[in-house]
This record gives sequence, structure tokens and C-alpha cells, in this order.
Amino acid sequence: MNIDLSGKTVLVTGSTAGIGYAIAKGLAGSGASVVINGRGQDKVEAAVRKLEGTGAKARGIAADVSTASGCKALVSALPEVDILINNAGIFEPKDFFDIPDEDWTRFFEVNVMSGVRLSRAYMKGMLERNWGRIVFISSESGLNIPVEMIHYGMTKTAQLSVARGLAQLTRGTGVTVNSVLPGPTMSEGVETFVKDLARQNGQSVDAAAANFVRQHRPSSLLQRFASVDEIANMVVYAASKEASATNGAALRAEGGIVNTIA
Ligand code: NAD
Repeated sequence: MNIDLSGKTVLVTGSTAGIGYAIAKGLAGSGASVVINGRGQDKVEAAVRKLEGTGAKARGIAADVSTASGCKALVSALPEVDILINNAGIFEPKDFFDIPDEDWTRFFEVNVMSGVRLSRAYMKGMLERNWGRIVFISSESGLNIPVEMIHYGMTKTAQLSVARGLAQLTRGTGVTVNSVLPGPTMSEGVETFVKDLARQNGQSVDAAAANFVRQHRPSSLLQRFASVDEIANMVVYAASKEASATNGAALRAEGGIVNTIA
């Protein structure tokens, strides 16, 4: 299979680093013209330069997708896309009894409302042009709610619900809406978290990572963190023309943690 996305414009939210950058690189490698997004102009420009260094077609738009005004500014700078990857997301372990209302709202705004607002802005054009792809980067934590991050799990389940609902609106068209569910993945954000764990426990980073999977995700069949490229591969497929029969699906790239068949 040869995935060719030349002529297609892609927006990947939260793509200056981590899984988002890997997705942007993967889609650009398949010929798409990629728009990088992050909050700060400097980081966005650095990511665009890094991507262009691989021969990719890329541009950047700095905007905070967790706010209505940030999404509005992004959409006025980029009125149309063929492929929207709702990747921007935050995670932070916090005890349920300590987390205030403001944090619940913040997690919902960043992880859920960003994708809701951008889908509302871009999906109509996709339906009119009779082709488009929307992919929500959810998580295995949307099915397997982590007790240390119930607020995060809630947002990741909500994304699955929004994605499935939007897919229902695509009946009979060439537009698809799917979710991808990564498991523990060694992105920049997670690397910082694992480095902190290693420091706290007096371990090497590799030992802390292996220990995390054994302790917190014992059902993992992969028994290690995935790489960001392993997640990006699934997303590039879901965004491809070749994935035309995959719609409304929750596609797992989580190393088999969730012990169910479907
Ligand atoms: P990361 O922290 O490494 O990178 C996140 C990116 O999003 C950064 O570029 C950051 O600047 C950007 N970002 C954050 N808030 C933003 C905002 N308001 N507006 C614009 N950009 C913003 O994260 P990651 O680990 O690569 O995670 C990416 C996605 O994958 C998230 O939705 C996360 O929930 C999901 N996920 C990650 C893992 C994992 O283990 N890494 C597992 C499952 C799901």
C-alpha cells in the first residue's frame, strides 16, 4: 500500500512536540501539506523548521486551541483543511479528592472542546467537498480509567463519544471520523513525567519506564512504552484515502492493555 496524501492540507493541533509532531512528520512524509500548531510562536517556528529540514511542506500557526478565541484565530488563518487531527491534550495525575472544579473545566476545554470547536469549523467544508478525515487522539485511559487521573479519563471517553457522534453525520459521504487510542507512549510530555519518577525513586529512566508499565499497566502485552512513531503510523493510515471503509471506529494502538476483543 502506498499512502499518497499529496494535495491534501492537514492541521495537527498540539504538534510542536510529542505524538503530534510525529503525526505531522508522518503525514508530511506521505506528501500532505502540514500545518503545525502550538501555543507559542517560537516553538511553532522551530517545529516547522525541523519538519522542513526533512523535505516536508509545512507552515505553522500559533494558537491556544483550549479557548474559543484561540480556535477562532486559527480558523481565520486557515479556513479549510482536508484532514484535521485533534491531538492537543494535557495529562496530570491528581487525587480525585484534591482536584478542584477549575481543573475539571481546564481538562475539558483543552482535551474535548478544542476538537469540538475545530470539527464544527472544518467538517461542513469536508462534507461539501465530499472528502475529509477527522481523527481524535483519545487514549486507552478513555476505556481503562486511571484512578490517579479520573479527570483525564473522563475527557478521553468524551472524545470517543464526540468522534462516534460526528461519524454518524457522514453517512454516504467520503468523510470519516475516527479515534485513535494510544497507550503509554514516550512523548516529550511523558518523558518529563518518567524522569521525575526516576529521580524520586533513585532509578534510571529506563528502569522507571519499565517499572511504570509493570505496576500501572500490568495487562500490557507490549510491556513497554510505545514510541511516538508507532502511534503516528496508525493515525497516518486512518487519515489516508486507503482507510475509506473505516469510519466511527475507536482504533487501538495501546499495546493490548485493554483486555477485550472488540
Ligand atoms: P506532549 O505534552 O508531549 O505534547 C503535547 C503538545 O500539545 C505540545 O506540543 C503542547 O505544546 C501542545 N499543547 C498543549 N496544550 C495546548 C493548547 N491549549 N493549544 C495548543 N497546543 C497545545 O503530549 P503527548 O504525550 O504527545 O500527547 C498528545 C496527545 O496524545 C494528547 O491528547 C494525549 O492525551 C494523547 N495520549 C498520550 C499518551 C502518552 O502516553 N503520551 C497516551 C495516550 C494518549
